[in-house]
Amino acid sequence: MVRDQIQERGISNQAVLDAMRNTPRHLFMPEQQRDYAYDDTPLPIGYSQTISQPFIVAFMTDLLGAEKTHRVLEIGTGSGYQAAVLSPLAGEVYTIEIVPELAKRSQALLKQLSYENVTVRLGDGYKGWPEKAPFDRIILTAAPPELPQALVDQLKPGGRLVAPVGSSSWSQELIVVEKSKDGKVKKRSVLGVRFVPMVKGSQ
Ligand code: SAH
Repeated sequence: MVRDQIQERGISNQAVLDAMRNTPRHLFMPEQQRDYAYDDTPLPIGYSQTISQPFIVAFMTDLLGAEKTHRVLEIGTGSGYQAAVLSPLAGEVYTIEIVPELAKRSQALLKQLSYENVTVRLGDGYKGWPEKAPFDRIILTAAPPELPQALVDQLKPGGRLVAPVGSSSWSQELIVVEKSKDGKVKKRSVLGVRFVPMVKGSQ
């Protein structure tokens, strides 16, 4: 998977490749999907949600550029796979999931697999995690129609955010947001992508 789908397509960051190689993707899948876990495709994880294609996980992880000293926020825990990939690259990973069953399942699995620096919370990602802010890095794995201001506010000066953004459910833009040391925000679009929409929570 790493050689054919990720290195072949131009990702050379050794730390990212190692994290992808060392994360047991099949364990994050429902039983009936495990045979396909390392295929070049997104897969259903229940509750109308999907785990991203391996290349997209690697590409976004590379763009995010998390470092060992960093506090990282993920919106959309899903299976917990992306959080597990980030775990060895970051200091701490905080991840928010809006579907209670998925939050529970991924929390239990990440604990069982000893991803000690990952904390899962059930909640609405649009609000971020103010108690743990500010974050060096923020990654969204569900697409909001536009960039949520609360998340930009919770980004540290010098920080970076990676997110699929767009109101169409079949195509969005992958956006990289950089916040400069003096708080100025710059955005660039890097790729057309297709993610599940980020839903509005009620909590
Ligand atoms: N990162 C995941 C992929 C997640 S798919 C993985 O590695 O498996 C997107 C996830 O975002 C879904 O689980 C969905 O329930 C969740 N989600 C959607 N809207 C959300 C919101 N407002 N807040 C938090 N999570 C949300």
